[in-house]
Amino acid sequence: MECIFCAIVEGKIPAAKVYENEQVFAFMDIAPANPGHLLIIPKQHYRNIFDMPAEVGTKIMEAAVPLATAIRKALNPDGLNLFQSNEAAGFQTVFHFHLHLIPRWEGDPLRLPWKPSEGDIKEISNIATKIQEAL
Ligand code: 5GP
Ligand code: ZN
Repeated sequence: MECIFCAIVEGKIPAAKVYENEQVFAFMDIAPANPGHLLIIPKQHYRNIFDMPAEVGTKIMEAAVPLATAIRKALNPDGLNLFQSNEAAGFQTVFHFHLHLIPRWEGDPLRLPWKPSEGDIKEISNIATKIQEAL
């Protein structure tokens, strides 16, 4: 089965397009978490952040900054979240990289998906070292 986001880029499936350039495509999410929920994707298919070149990530962010400003100008939200899911364990349901831009209003129904609680500083710094060594 063809990737649904590739089909959107190719115009085979309709979508409310907001912006496109040579590398990226931005369109409204069909099931918005809040009004103005927008997705930015690379036109080329990458499953998620684990197989996407860093330069493509740069292109995504280069589009995200002005689009966030445009959302603020158009909809006057109190805030905005960038959200990005990788693999099923990380909430990913469409396996073509996408960055969510979700406008936020005070008192809206969205909640942080984790409960912040202080971690063990030794464990945190051990993990930091582990990641640093893997870089
Ligand atoms: P994920 O859960 O992978 O982070 O996000 C996938 C997003 O794609 C969801 O927010 C979902 O509503 C959106 N989505 C799924 N299918 C379509 C579609 O056909 N068109 C549009 N515009 N959005 C879609
Ligand atoms: Zn795709």
